[in-house]
Amino acid sequence: MAAYKLVDHTYDVVVVGAGGAGLRATFGMGAAGFKTACITKVFPTRSHTVAAQGGIGASLGNMAEDNWRWHMYDTVKGSDWLGDQDAIEYMCREAVPAVYELEHFGLPFSRTEDGKIYQRPFGGHMRNYGEAPVQRACAAADRTGHAMLHTLYQQSLKHNAEFFVEYFAIDLIMDADGSCRGVVAINLDDGTIHRFRAHQTVLATGGYGRAYFSCTSAHTCTGDGHGLVARAGLPLQDMEFVQFHPTGMYGSGCLITEGARGEGGYLTNSAGERFMERYAPTAKDLASRDVVSRAMTVEIREGRGVGKGKDHIHLHLEHLGAETLELRLPGITETAKIFTGVDVTRDPAPVLPTVHYNMGGIPTNLHGEVLRPTKDNPDATCPGLMAIGETACVSVHGANRLGTNSLLDIVVFGRAAALRAAATMKPGASHKPLPKDGGDLAVSRLDRLRNASGDLRTAEVRLSMQKTMQNDAAVFRTASSLGEGVKKINEIQATLPRLKLSDRSLVWNSDLVEALELENLMACAQATITSAEARKESRGAHAREDFPDRDDATWMKHSLASIDEKGKVTLDYRPVHTYTLTDEVEYIVPKARVY
Ligand SMILES: Cc1cc2nc3c(=O)[nH]c(=O)nc-3n(C[C@H](O)[C@H](O)[C@H](O)COP(=O)(O)OP(=O)(O)OC[C@H]3O[C@@H](n4cnc5c(N)ncnc54)[C@H](O)[C@@H]3O)c2cc1C
Repeated sequence: MAAYKLVDHTYDVVVVGAGGAGLRATFGMGAAGFKTACITKVFPTRSHTVAAQGGIGASLGNMAEDNWRWHMYDTVKGSDWLGDQDAIEYMCREAVPAVYELEHFGLPFSRTEDGKIYQRPFGGHMRNYGEAPVQRACAAADRTGHAMLHTLYQQSLKHNAEFFVEYFAIDLIMDADGSCRGVVAINLDDGTIHRFRAHQTVLATGGYGRAYFSCTSAHTCTGDGHGLVARAGLPLQDMEFVQFHPTGMYGSGCLITEGARGEGGYLTNSAGERFMERYAPTAKDLASRDVVSRAMTVEIREGRGVGKGKDHIHLHLEHLGAETLELRLPGITETAKIFTGVDVTRDPAPVLPTVHYNMGGIPTNLHGEVLRPTKDNPDATCPGLMAIGETACVSVHGANRLGTNSLLDIVVFGRAAALRAAATMKPGASHKPLPKDGGDLAVSRLDRLRNASGDLRTAEVRLSMQKTMQNDAAVFRTASSLGEGVKKINEIQATLPRLKLSDRSLVWNSDLVEALELENLMACAQATITSAEARKESRGAHAREDFPDRDDATWMKHSLASIDEKGKVTLDYRPVHTYTLTDEVEYIVPKARVY
């Protein structure tokens, strides 16, 4: 190993990530008296949470009657019964106080005329157990995530947390007894390597949309937490469930919020038909995302797409009027103009289903503790390690997430992680000596990549991976596309040792980080496509043309994908929790999912 000098730091808690989840945990930990560090590869307010548009779900009932039990029912149904109902109950009950807490922290929500938090309809959110759409999405115009992230960052500064901005976490420090003892990161500014010891390491690194060619996610969404965990020998859960958002802008993939349909926008095909009425007679354009994305894909496939190539769909907003668009959807009015050249006050916007969210991730319980399932105990945990936010799989979203439930997930479980730490740890406890090889994994990876003298550029390998995922793990899946996809992804994974970074004259200054990110993305891609190939049913976002039905008898279980150092994926499963958290609500029995 090269002689790197590691800069050592000691904390009670280290949070990796400063999106909504990471910040909520960071200041919760600080408020509980823990010496807390937050490491982030981008400046906190540049995290992907900033891009969330439509809103955060909570049954405040400001516009009409609502109830957390209805919210829970919708979330379970949205998850296609793969979500764990104890965790879903926890999230939907906590939603109401969580939103008021954000309001009191200063989040500038849009307001109703009588001054209450404004709420809009969103896909899959219904009143009275599926009767008709309800207005549950609490919104700050179409910039809810932006407002939330700034609010949470202010709170973090108020409490005593130390930020390590533009530090990239490379690998976890794992002890021989299987517990996590901290994390190693590189300071992107000067290349120094830092070793953070902590009693609790909290991963809040977001999703891995960039494993695909076209996605709404930021370039930073590279599944780093997933990669760290996979290399630590822990499994990833339900990775086959990748959400396609119905309205990515055609061409750029930038998002048009579902809030646009919540405000009354609708989709049409080349005949000008509002085709969603055929696929989802009750919820129509506000059916769940997987349902709308499949309907659009079928319309395009059957020749009813719009445009020269008949390869996309129209989203109409022009009937809402310029004034409403300016008040409720100013951000997307502007981005549609920039990225598609369309003035949505006059013409329909061209849209296409686009990769948007990862339901799967690092398995945790509802306290944010990472699971290391064993044969005897599928809910066993890994001491010292937590995961929250999009990188985690609690699982509250199951096979398909409802819009507005992720902003909710990140604040509810960010807070839950801090509450759990406060209940189980004492600030300032002494640290055991670090394991002898503490930090070796990270340092040897850095060394290997820095000196990699093969023949392939990072960007080439990444592009092949992204194209394969886009083609073979898409909205609709078949045995042949998935089988082919698994083979191709494994072949592409095997080219990683051929990366070329040693020739400094050819290497751009971000190449090392991109190579580290590529290794993380590759683990996500392999876990996703392998789990998808194995799951022989259709459930939520996982739609198999060869197995069109949900099969609860065989497949109502969580997939677990482990990846060894050679890149070989092994699958296992753990049961879905078929119980609620309290007796105040009954377990929701699986039934057919129609909107
Ligand atoms: C365009 C868009 C619109 C959306 N709109 C909505 C919406 O209206 N409602 C809703 O509920 N959900 C929405 N979502 C989903 C939701 O915004 C995200 O799931 C959520 O914000 C993720 O938050 P997070 O804190 O888990 O991760 P992120 O916000 O992605 O933050 C990840 C953090 O991890 C850090 N990080 C990552 N890797 C490393 C590393 N190796 N080292 C150090 N730091 C690292 C990053 O710097 C960043 O701070 C939207 C998503 C997108 C993409």
